[in-house]
Amino acid sequence: MSENLYDLLAAGFPADRGKSCFLLSDGAEISYGDLEGAAGRVAAGLLAMGVEPGDRVAMQVEKSPQAVMIYLGVLKAGAIFLPLNPAYTPSEVDYFRRDAEPKVFIDDAPGFVAGAAGFEPMAASVPRTAADIASIIYTSGTTGRSKGAMLSHGALAANALALHAAWEFSPSDVLLHALPIFHVHGLFVAMHCAFLSGCPMVWLPKFADAEVLDGLARSTVMMGVPTFYTRLLENPGFTRERAAHMRLFICGSAPLLPSTFAEFEARTGLRILERYGMSEAVIITSNPVHGDRLAGSVGYPLPGVELRIGGGEKTGVIEIRGPSVFSAYWRMPEKTAEEFTADGFFITGDVGREDADGRVWISGRAKDLIISGGYNVYPKEVELVLDEMAGVTESAVIGVPHPDFGEAVVAVVIGQGDEAAMIAAARRQLAAYKAPKRILFVDELPRNAMGKVQKNVLRDRYAGVF
Ligand code: AMP
Repeated sequence: MSENLYDLLAAGFPADRGKSCFLLSDGAEISYGDLEGAAGRVAAGLLAMGVEPGDRVAMQVEKSPQAVMIYLGVLKAGAIFLPLNPAYTPSEVDYFRRDAEPKVFIDDAPGFVAGAAGFEPMAASVPRTAADIASIIYTSGTTGRSKGAMLSHGALAANALALHAAWEFSPSDVLLHALPIFHVHGLFVAMHCAFLSGCPMVWLPKFADAEVLDGLARSTVMMGVPTFYTRLLENPGFTRERAAHMRLFICGSAPLLPSTFAEFEARTGLRILERYGMSEAVIITSNPVHGDRLAGSVGYPLPGVELRIGGGEKTGVIEIRGPSVFSAYWRMPEKTAEEFTADGFFITGDVGREDADGRVWISGRAKDLIISGGYNVYPKEVELVLDEMAGVTESAVIGVPHPDFGEAVVAVVIGQGDEAAMIAAARRQLAAYKAPKRILFVDELPRNAMGKVQKNVLRDRYAGVF
């Protein structure tokens, strides 16, 4: 039997293919039948272009239902789907083209789907095994060359099934989808849950407050990055009544501040469900649907995921093994070998710990670890102290070169305050070497498309502070 991911997803489509898949802001709807037909025509069109199993099909487009039709068509044709952020510049895209050598490059999704309109939809998908690659996701790569994580049909299927079960998706759900679809979060995590349950998606090109508030009225589940939640909370129109019928608010891709979690609960009476994942493994841990969701914890490893802390320490780099872990980095065997242990665990690069109850707590990226005067400082520990101070909305703690200490702890803070008094207050709560030597106030922190604070940008910006 073919293990093409497309077949698993299509098996979840509603029996009544007239049911809506995309609910658009202008009131228009696109049915599951339309999605299936278009995906079949795109697949036929790709085959007619000479695309063979394993060929890469790259796509750099704005978010649209047609982009999803193409994603599914590429799977169906047995090719490898390679999504690219529309914000990438031509010279960035040039790197991906040279590295991945796509057979087809799509830069106009509606045009491509229209161009395939004359084809008879392909009936059966091209057979694939679980180990065959379904997609290559280039990591955002803040240092060095961006790496293409190869995810197999089996890995994506396993994660989709695990999440569909863990988050209890059903045909009566409606998913609010405001995420980009060039990244695992919006592309795999969100959409696969919708397809497996055959439920509609309130389809928003991006997060826009008014549309999201409208969309919530029609939805039961929202998936977002932390900035979605802070923006909702800034909007007085986001009330307890607005959220009352929502089954789940799910959050990930970057750490959710405990203050956001608390404020959200105070406003709505609901606890955000935080989960943890990455391009190389899709979702790794999740807080429970039933049972306590704790602020600051990313929950428990999903069924089938083995998680341990490297080096046998209490806090250290998280290592994982399981069915959804990527196969290898595209054409980088050495890099791949470096990031797996001898017994097959992937070294995530995230630092964290697992408590006695099995919950996972993340304290940052290993490469963000600061070594000041020979002592290790985990930025998260310092950030938590600063975030509690009056006048601080959010903080990002980095290490910058220092003539005496090698690296010194510097805090970049959204908010206002008296620097010396705050440093003194931090020293009352933290060992002296952990307390920031400087606190710099800003209006906003640099973030990538998924809302992650770009600490590498901050390190460059403040490299000369001492
Ligand atoms: P990406 O591959 O771009 O999805 O980035 C993955 C990284 O995002 C992970 O390795 C973590 O550092 C971070 N991340 C994702 N979800 C969370 C979370 N809930 N809490 C903290 N960090 C997260």
